[in-house]
Amino acid sequence: MCGLDGILDVLYDYDAVRPALTRETLAAAPRTQWRYRPLLPLPATAALPTAPVGWTPVFDAPPLAARFGLAGVLLKDEGRNPTGSLKDRASSVGAAHAAASACRQITCASTGNAASSLAGMSAQLGLQAFIFVPASVSQAKLTQMLIHGARVFLVRGTYEDAFALSMGASERFGWYNRNSAINPLLVEGKKTAGLEIAEQTGPDLPDVVVVPLGDGCTLAGTWKGLREMHALGLSPRVPRMIGVQASGAAPIAAALAEDRDVTPVPVQTIADGIAVGTPRNWRKALNAVRASGGTIVTVRDEEILDAMRLLAEAVGVWAEPAALAGVAALPVLREAGLVGRSERVLVLLTGHGLKDPAAARGAAGGRAVEIEATAEAVEEALR
Ligand SMILES: *Cc1c(COP(=O)(O)O)cnc(C)c1O
Repeated sequence: MCGLDGILDVLYDYDAVRPALTRETLAAAPRTQWRYRPLLPLPATAALPTAPVGWTPVFDAPPLAARFGLAGVLLKDEGRNPTGSLKDRASSVGAAHAAASACRQITCASTGNAASSLAGMSAQLGLQAFIFVPASVSQAKLTQMLIHGARVFLVRGTYEDAFALSMGASERFGWYNRNSAINPLLVEGKKTAGLEIAEQTGPDLPDVVVVPLGDGCTLAGTWKGLREMHALGLSPRVPRMIGVQASGAAPIAAALAEDRDVTPVPVQTIADGIAVGTPRNWRKALNAVRASGGTIVTVRDEEILDAMRLLAEAVGVWAEPAALAGVAALPVLREAGLVGRSERVLVLLTGHGLKDPAAARGAAGGRAVEIEATAEAVEEALR
């Protein structure tokens, strides 16, 4: 059957993995997320997508550290994945697992990136992707889905409506279910972000890792990866995990603050990637935040747009609204005393700015004027 029920945790025999994943084996491994094959739930014979996924750069951002009064700010830019978001980590594992299970059709619901990514990974492995997205999806993300050959249903409704349709269709038609809120193998893909953070920073592991929070799989997955590297003796400790929600879509932040279960909320935010009113993986996300000594904060859309401009101008990286929620959270975390002056923070940037240009226009500091094709017109415009 091409489906899986419940949000389970994939566990490994870490004693058996240890000899297969050492500093020596890693030194010779491919510079993609597939370097962690012993920690991924795929048969050894599974075909993988051609486009390299993962091993995205981690780099210092001194202008951000100076501005917010921190010992260091590290960025990990997931916008450099093949379809421009962290979702490629999960979609590649899901598509590879479907293909290895002889499933030829695969489905997901998405606010945009999971679908763009699934489309990109599926065709490479000979799968047909069936995608359910809200009709309000960003045009850039929709075009990605179509260029990679997906069949797309533009649902007149919310992400929750799209999710229900995708779940129903998976059951009815026997399509492989790539919804990471349901399929535990997808979190295993996302965890490679955490494995990489631990390996790439080595002994200089940051004190805090800040991650945008929608369904909760990215945060839970990143934390699982960081813990596994620690368990394997490849990382000195496990950082605090801080989740960031948009203030217009913050059911997990509210649950943490009030020490209760998550209840669904209506959503209103430009950060479509984290516009999730009914999160499916909130228990794992809350567990990661609590167990690591972290927290969850919220940022307003205006703060996200300010951070977009700052990141683009000071650091040269353009990320989409949801992707840079962690940057927008830095002043919030400093003012609330949740991160100390002597601490080093890694911010996970989850998707590229080109994915949603319309959302960015309000943030842009540059100016464009249309002119006649004459030198005089240039002088005139400069006056
Ligand atoms: C999906 C997504 C997130 C959040 O991931 P969850 O697993 O839903 O918490 C953050 N940023 C971007 C750009 C995304 O596409």
